[in-house]
Amino acid sequence: MKKVQLGKSEVEASPIALGTNAVGGHNLYNNLDEEQGKEVVRKAIKNGVSLLDTAYIYGLGRSEELIGETVKEFSRDEYQIATKGAHYFDENKEEQISNKPEFLKEQVEQSLKRLQVDYIDLFYIHFPDDETPKDEAVAALKELKDQGKIKAIGVSNFSLEQLKEANKDGYVDVVQLEYNLLNRENEHIFEYTSENNITFIPYFPLVSGLLAGKYTENSQFDDLRAENPEFQGDKFKENLKKVDELRTIADNHGVEVAHVVLAFYLTQPSLDVIIPGAKKPEQVIDNLTTLDVKLTESEIEKINQIFPVNNN
Ligand code: NAP
Repeated sequence: MKKVQLGKSEVEASPIALGTNAVGGHNLYNNLDEEQGKEVVRKAIKNGVSLLDTAYIYGLGRSEELIGETVKEFSRDEYQIATKGAHYFDENKEEQISNKPEFLKEQVEQSLKRLQVDYIDLFYIHFPDDETPKDEAVAALKELKDQGKIKAIGVSNFSLEQLKEANKDGYVDVVQLEYNLLNRENEHIFEYTSENNITFIPYFPLVSGLLAGKYTENSQFDDLRAENPEFQGDKFKENLKKVDELRTIADNHGVEVAHVVLAFYLTQPSLDVIIPGAKKPEQVIDNLTTLDVKLTESEIEKINQIFPVNNN
């Protein structure tokens, strides 16, 4: 798979990457099988899906630990690790966010230990806090980059204003934001990311599988999906209908709806990497088909009509 450069960094990553919040993310999903999670990671690396996207908060370090155990089976140039930090738990066990320079530095040290690696390819500030000036937070990561502990700097869940502040000195390589066909709000960031050589990585690309075209009105959910408004009542039915409209395009290319959706994202400016999550090894292989889909202008237009930018 031809690699892409992350922002202005030296890191080269696979455009089809792996979202790993279901690898050890016991706080996010019920009944996760850790061995299966490791097999997902193994399958990904073996097939050139070399960028692994994890975070401290996925299983409170467990996802990083499982990835660390698995990548030992490979040489360091066969994979890239992206992880994120910002969360901690206070004395009342309440979840809090910090972007303080010292806190971020400590988070990187802890991630390095859990991952059992010498450097992290991409470290993101997972969420913005309300206090820390964002350029100061990023300056802490720049220090770690200069020390070789991280290779690229990312921010996640930042507004455009916060991103601009974070990138005051031009150090931000990647921004990771929610973006999918049902929520296209963050397209307004594309202009800034394109002009500033920042890679835009969308998360939640398949809306937990909703955009993969595999659900029906009778599908039942007992995880995060049970609380997501996109999966409720008339809204759910409306979404299923829209997804169904993509089937003609998918049939034209001899692929599934999920591949059309993922291929569409890769046509967007500065959006060079996608991180679909996978629970099963076969989903990793399946998502690779995305690279075979070259959408025509009229297909792109059709997708824009079915899922208009201001649809929510
Ligand atoms: P997603 O990619 O939209 O959905 C993933 C789910 O879709 C999988 O768990 C699987 O669920 C299903 N799926 C995957 N490939 C499929 C295929 N080819 N065909 C059919 N179904 C398929 O959502 P996500 O996993 O929540 O997000 C992706 C990644 O983004 C995460 O793993 C994480 O790394 C990252 N993320 C980051 C943030 C952030 O704040 N920065 C927030 C959320 C997520 P089933 O097998 O259960 O159907």
